[in-house]
Amino acid sequence: MKPRNEVPANLKWKTEDIFASIADWEKMYADVSTRLDFSCYEGKLNTAESVKACFDALYDVMGDIELLSVYAHMLHDEDTRKSENNALQAKVQALAVRFSSGVAFMTPELTALDEKTLREFAENPLLKDYDYELKSIIKEKPHVLGKEAEAVLAMGGQVFGSFSNIFGMINNADLPFPEITINGKKVKVSHGMYGVLMQDPDRNVRKKTFKAFYNAFIGLINTISQTYISHVNKDIYFARVRKYESCLSKALESEDVNPKVYDNLIKSVHRGLKTMHKYVAVRKKIMGVNRLHMYDVYASLVDDADLKLDYEQAFELVKKGLAPLGEEYGKLLQDAHDNGWIDVEETEGKKSGAYSISVHRAPHPFVLLNWQPTTSNIFTLAHELGHAMHSYFSTKAQPESKSGYRIFVAEVASTVNEVLLLKYLLANTDDVKLKKYLLNYYMDMIKGTLFRQTMFAEFEALAHAQAESGQPLTKDLLNEMYIGLNRKYFGRSMYSDPEIAYEWARIPHFYRSFYVYKYATGITSAISIAERIYKEGAPAVADYFKFLSSGGSDSPVELLKLAGVDLTKKDAFDAAMNSFEDALNQFIELN
Ligand SMILES: [Zn+2]
Repeated sequence: MKPRNEVPANLKWKTEDIFASIADWEKMYADVSTRLDFSCYEGKLNTAESVKACFDALYDVMGDIELLSVYAHMLHDEDTRKSENNALQAKVQALAVRFSSGVAFMTPELTALDEKTLREFAENPLLKDYDYELKSIIKEKPHVLGKEAEAVLAMGGQVFGSFSNIFGMINNADLPFPEITINGKKVKVSHGMYGVLMQDPDRNVRKKTFKAFYNAFIGLINTISQTYISHVNKDIYFARVRKYESCLSKALESEDVNPKVYDNLIKSVHRGLKTMHKYVAVRKKIMGVNRLHMYDVYASLVDDADLKLDYEQAFELVKKGLAPLGEEYGKLLQDAHDNGWIDVEETEGKKSGAYSISVHRAPHPFVLLNWQPTTSNIFTLAHELGHAMHSYFSTKAQPESKSGYRIFVAEVASTVNEVLLLKYLLANTDDVKLKKYLLNYYMDMIKGTLFRQTMFAEFEALAHAQAESGQPLTKDLLNEMYIGLNRKYFGRSMYSDPEIAYEWARIPHFYRSFYVYKYATGITSAISIAERIYKEGAPAVADYFKFLSSGGSDSPVELLKLAGVDLTKKDAFDAAMNSFEDALNQFIELN
């Protein structure tokens, strides 16, 4: 691995586009430190003018803090070993805490205003940059309690959050990782190793891994069950205290998502299960086994078909793949390539993986990579550039208060790029091995992100609904629910090994209730958008750009409608299912 100073400048991101030097960073830091006192607005948020002044001041400080933060973050990730960069991060975190407590009075003070006044504010042109925020406060208003009750709830914060911490302790600290023997060598099955070993071509290794790993969880199942049940009961408590119809509606309404979307997702995926079952039957046939077990799910169906491109070649390929998005998009990609948006090479101490990062006041988004000449790295490049462009267009089109987009839509642009690239590659190769690899990559993505996350989402909904109806949850009930869903989703070609009933017990995401469904709606939206762009061209691209430019200016479900995706209806889900079936049929033909 190279040291950073040996990497050519054109393969490094330009942090100097944000601050020329750490000294400049320090200067802004000192300046922001003097602007954290918002008490002059407290108790005065009763006119449109004063509300605007307060919001303006808040966003002005927040914008600078984000800039300080992103710079510190990037320096840290360039070389995680440098303690002086960690110190910058710690400093800006402290600043952010002071900022939060300084503006903490705002939402309660606005919420306490009567609804008529709030509506007038939301419709006042003076406050147009803050109208969505004000409308959200109006929506939340019926769920906010009196001052004293809110204070009591706030005091319980640490206690209420503890179930997730307890599970974290079980999962990361106390779980005895089992040891198995492979070719005479002892191997510890940690979380990381589990994922690796479940892809091992040797079926016996996979079987041993699966059994040993699940037995470790089964050994702690009483504790884990009680932890999860308590977490669900906590959700119910909050839904009732805040006067929501259910835990599910609380989770979705607080993110301004129509609860219908959740139902629609589950129903639509149920309709698509026949294709999933067909996929499982194909897997069984290709693997040539009498009985397909749960430990066969992650074994690869194809040979590696790495294109072995260097970064420059890969970038050209990605540009070609994304050409359907038009000339402006292509030019911007070139700009990202030429002008220091991207940190390409793996260097000593650099943060692993890949991500895109962006804040409103930075001159452009940034992308971190650790380039390797594999096919999946080409997809990662397209993916991260998707995030970067979404941020770029939203920042350009929206005021600071509305440019940040929500998690609900965060994976749409990145996945659209992956799907477009995949379609391009498939259309432009005769190499059967590569085609199989690509189709398998796509099906794995849909299987993992659409089907599996929806199954998780359905499990959460069932568990909460059960407890909400007054019937107590038990570990046996949770296990039965889970294995029932497993059978339903995988179909008859799959043998649901008894251990799989306990899978729910090892999923950390379940302690963030009603979160994972967003992965499924995200990929559904992206596939539906990419398919439409492929078929309709320009009009679909124009609609997609409206979405890319919409940031967080409205409910995420409304914003997706700009790109022609209505998640309250079935079309987008059907498009995604058809795309899966299409890929499967092509895959069958090649085998
Ligand atoms: Zn992503």
